[in-house]
Amino acid sequence: MEDDHRREDEWFRENEKQLLQAAQVARLRRERERAARKAASELAKLRDMHLMKCPKCGHDLKEQELEGIKVDRCTHCEGVFFDAGELDQIFAKKAAERRGFFRRLAGI
Ligand SMILES: [Zn+2]
Repeated sequence: MEDDHRREDEWFRENEKQLLQAAQVARLRRERERAARKAASELAKLRDMHLMKCPKCGHDLKEQELEGIKVDRCTHCEGVFFDAGELDQIFAKKAAERRGFFRRLAGI
């Protein structure tokens, strides 16, 4: 009889241990999901705050197309900014087109 009790206790302890482990795994998964949602939300917030804003003075940037290349020019300090790969596009142009691009960039 005492053996039956001990076996029953052991079974309950093992069962509870497994239930606790499953609950812990589920909690860790929810924690990771919350962290991922928070990171995505903070990235979106940062993007909204800085998208098309001048990195020097914070005013609006305006897109301007010069010789087929879109550059961003600040509406306040007149700084000019390139996206990744745009400089490569400029260097890939023929000399005359490249000169034309820089003349238009300088407004001459
Ligand atoms: Zn600016």
